[in-house]
Amino acid sequence: MNVPLANTHLAIVVPCYNEEQVLSETNRILSGFMAEMQKVGLISANSGIYYIDDGSADKTWQLISAFNAENPNVHGIKLSRNQGHQNALLAGLYNAEGEAIISIDADLQDDVSVIKDMLYLYKEGNEIVYGVRSSRNSDTFFKRFTAHAYYWLLKKMGVNLVYNHADYRLMSRKAINCLKEYKEVNLFLRGIVSLLGFRSAIVFYERVPRFAGESKYPLRKMLGLAVQGITSFTVAPLRMITWFGVLVSLSSIAVAIWVIFGKYVIHNAAPGWASIVLSIYFLGGVQLLSIGILGEYISKIYMETKQRPLYFIEEII
Ligand code: UDP
Ligand code: MG
Repeated sequence: MNVPLANTHLAIVVPCYNEEQVLSETNRILSGFMAEMQKVGLISANSGIYYIDDGSADKTWQLISAFNAENPNVHGIKLSRNQGHQNALLAGLYNAEGEAIISIDADLQDDVSVIKDMLYLYKEGNEIVYGVRSSRNSDTFFKRFTAHAYYWLLKKMGVNLVYNHADYRLMSRKAINCLKEYKEVNLFLRGIVSLLGFRSAIVFYERVPRFAGESKYPLRKMLGLAVQGITSFTVAPLRMITWFGVLVSLSSIAVAIWVIFGKYVIHNAAPGWASIVLSIYFLGGVQLLSIGILGEYISKIYMETKQRPLYFIEEII
C-alpha cells in the first residue's frame, strides 16, 4: 500500500468500565503508538485519544485525569453513570474531534499495529475500515461456538454483519455524521454501521487474551446484546411465530382426524390422559414463548417512543 503519508487528524476512542488494572498499560501502548505515527507524518500533531469512563466505580477516572495532565492530547469523557459499552462508544464517536475515528476496547485484546493499515485504507478512500479477527483461538469453546451460531442465525434472518468483527473499526467523519442520523435508542452499532453503505475495507488481526482484569461482558450482558442485535434489526422472529402457529394448528387437525378415525372406524377406545396433558404443556410453552417474543418487540417500541437520551456527559477533559 503506497499511499502518500498525509497527516490524518485521527482520534482513538476507548470505552472503559472499571479498567484500572489495564488502563495504564493501554495508555502507554496507545500513546507510544500515536507518537510514533506522528513522527513519521501518518497522523497530525493534534490527533488524540479519548477515554470514555462509562460510570466506573474504581480509579479509572483518576487514571484518565492523570494521563490528561501528562499529555493534553489524551482526553477523557466521563459519563454520569454506567450506560453500557454501545452507548459509551457512541459518546466517544460523537464527541471526539478528528477526520477519522477508530474505536478500540480498553483491554488491549485488539492488535494496535493494524491501526496503520486502517489509516492507509482510509487514505485510499474507504469511509469505514472493519477490524476482523482472523481466528477465535483466544476465546473459550463456549464463546466461539455461541458466536458462530449467532452470526449464522442473524444471517438466516436477513441481518448481514461483518463476520467476526466487533467494535474495532475506523470511521470517517462522513460516516459518523450519517450514523448520527439514526435516532434509535436501541442501538446495535455493528449492525447499523454495515447499513451505512459507503466504500469500506477489512483488516485482519489476531485477537489475544485480555491483558489484565476480567471481561466486563458477563453472560447476562452478552445475551442482552445478542437479543438487541436480533430485535433491533429484524422482525423475522415474529414471522416465525406465525408460521409455527400455523404448523401446530395443522398438526392438531391431523391429530383430531386420527382420533375420530380411531374412535369410529377401528373402535379403539380413546388413549389415556397423557396425550391431552402433554399437548397442554406443549401449547402452553409455545404460547408463553410467543408472548415473550412479542413482548421483546413491544418493549423496544416502548423505549423508542420515549426517545430517552442515550447518555449524559458529566465532564470532558
Ligand atoms: N465496557 C463499557 N461499559 C460496559 C461494559 C464494558 O464501556 O458496561 C467496555 C470495557 O471497558 C471494554 C469494552 O467495553 O473496553 C469491551 O469489554 P470487555 O473487554 O470486557 O468485553 P469482551 O472482550 O470480554 O467481550
Ligand atoms: Mg475484551
